[in-house]
Amino acid sequence: MVSYHLSNSATPLNIVIRYCHGEFLPKENPAEKENNKKKNVLDAISEGRKMEAYTEHRTKDMRVCWLCETVCYKKKTGKTIGKKWICIDCLRQLKETMETFKQWEEEIALESEMKKQLDDGLGC
Ligand SMILES: [Zn+2]
Repeated sequence: MVSYHLSNSATPLNIVIRYCHGEFLPKENPAEKENNKKKNVLDAISEGRKMEAYTEHRTKDMRVCWLCETVCYKKKTGKTIGKKWICIDCLRQLKETMETFKQWEEEIALESEMKKQLDDGLGC
């Protein structure tokens, strides 16, 4: 009796011993087994390549908004400005900021004018 049963570890030697004892049934003829092995390897490579192509394809479609850092796919509208892609939501916010920019500047100017007048008044 071979002492392979003392260890259940799947070392290559163990597997060979167990294989020799007919543990891996049903038995295939060696040529068929070799073919299956090749087919499995080819399938694995093919699957791997498909996965790689898919990932590459998806990554190409994938965009990260420079401002809000949201990950978007091609369906999401946005614009590339310089080297950065910005999503529509952030662009709307930017547009709003730009539209109110003049008003904002006037408010700042008014505030500093008032502050100046107040300071001058206190100086008298
Ligand atoms: Zn954004």
